[in-house]
Amino acid sequence: MPRSNRPRRRAPGEEVEPIDLERALMGTKRIEAKRDGAWNVQPQGAGSATKVYTCPGCGSEIAPGVAHLVAWRADGLMGEADDLAGRRHWHSHCWKIRT
Ligand SMILES: [Zn+2]
Repeated sequence: MPRSNRPRRRAPGEEVEPIDLERALMGTKRIEAKRDGAWNVQPQGAGSATKVYTCPGCGSEIAPGVAHLVAWRADGLMGEADDLAGRRHWHSHCWKIRT
């Protein structure tokens, strides 16, 4: 693969790595295997939960400021953008008991 678009090294203390910024904003993504396939699971810290979501596991609301997680397919046939568009917010424990 060509590496021509790899960022050039900047002055000390000035390195910019977008992937690190993304990770800092989003937390640590992992992949979990469920009965219906592989899912990306992205924990959301309490500080980044600013909206009300409906948990598909129990049908209850996830209030702002409550740490939870976001899940979307990791093996979707429609491509990751489509999978991401279909992401759902879950209570952590509801996701844990999902088979
Ligand atoms: Zn729930």
